Amino acid sequence: MTQPTQQSGAMTLTDKFGRPMRDLRISVTDRCNFRCTYCMPAEIFGDRYEFLPKPEILSFEETERLARVFAGLGVTKLRITGGEPLVRAQLPALIEKLVGIEGIDDIALTTNGFLLKQMAGDLKAAGLERITVSLDTLDDEISKKMSGRPYGVGRTLEGIEEAVRVGLNPIKIDTVVQRGVNDHTIVDTARHFKGTGHIVRFIEFMDVGNRNGWKLERVVTAKEIIGKISAEFPLVPLEPNYRGEVATRYAYADGTGEIGVIASVSMPFCGDCTRARLTTDGRLVTCLFASGGTDLKSLLRGGASDEDLAAAITKVWSNRGDRYSELREANTNWSDKAAGKDRKKIEMYQIGG
Ligand code: SAM
Ligand code: SF4
Ligand code: SF4
Repeated sequence: MTQPTQQSGAMTLTDKFGRPMRDLRISVTDRCNFRCTYCMPAEIFGDRYEFLPKPEILSFEETERLARVFAGLGVTKLRITGGEPLVRAQLPALIEKLVGIEGIDDIALTTNGFLLKQMAGDLKAAGLERITVSLDTLDDEISKKMSGRPYGVGRTLEGIEEAVRVGLNPIKIDTVVQRGVNDHTIVDTARHFKGTGHIVRFIEFMDVGNRNGWKLERVVTAKEIIGKISAEFPLVPLEPNYRGEVATRYAYADGTGEIGVIASVSMPFCGDCTRARLTTDGRLVTCLFASGGTDLKSLLRGGASDEDLAAAITKVWSNRGDRYSELREANTNWSDKAAGKDRKKIEMYQIGG
């Protein structure tokens, strides 16, 4: 088993493939005000769906304590996600707590943007520096279909404007692309944000979870996405900003900004995956496609010391051998397997992408 080592002041805990644990994605709620067809389809997540009861959800104090322990083991970046993080009551108070953790140099948040207009100022004041807004299209009718709610894109766009106004820059816009659903609108999305400084990242539709009806035919590959956009706006490849960056970057040849593609299906990047995930109910998950997770909440509530928690996390990360997307790629019959017919996978809304 790999033991954590101390190098130039920072703890380096590595997994079986030598990958350090650098990022922690914290899902602060399993609830959401949208019902995106690829994540929480309305026919499954209806009025009677039972989300986590309050006592099962980590309190802000518990989340902060765990984040501190993760930071002590080498995590430097936190991303707040969900479900929809902005539906968690008093979220800015959590951000305030996390900002003060030694060793954390970057805190970001991913949101569907619906509540952003009213919350951007408080989030910024609490110390948040960066946000990612999910926006799959600018077409209201397509957006209604994809989000499972009759809202359209107006409020999300207003949320982005407000985020800019309060200084939550630079903003990333995440766009999941599905063939036959919104792939004909990606050039419009690129055009809309070109020259604004915001970076649109087009994401291949992933087979995460068991309930979103994933089909290989619905995946539009990064290559196709780049082909479509560069036919309109010539692009030049850019170097990654850092090891493990999930998006492959391209600049507009005319110097008006950049876009990214996240090719989790067609070009997996498990080799550089440094991301751990903490579910709303306190489980540590080491891969987007994991089956369950390790219960840290019971340890925490059972009186474990910080050292006990660090030892539990170290054990899990040291034994981590996840590389789901790479194995899927190598599998000749991966369409069925990847569609979740072979085993149960955790759902996206529980771990937040
Ligand atoms: N509710 C927030 C939001 O939508 O931004 C945060 C949580 S959401 C699960 C995080 C990201 O996962 C979103 O950008 C969403 O589009 C993406 N996502 C969800 N299901 C996906 C899938 N099957 N394939 C690719 N991306 C997915
Ligand atoms: Fe909600 Fe985000 Fe999932 Fe859409 S992708 S249902 S906004 S958690
Ligand atoms: Fe990381 Fe798992 Fe995704 Fe590979 S499949 S990049 S290990 S989360």
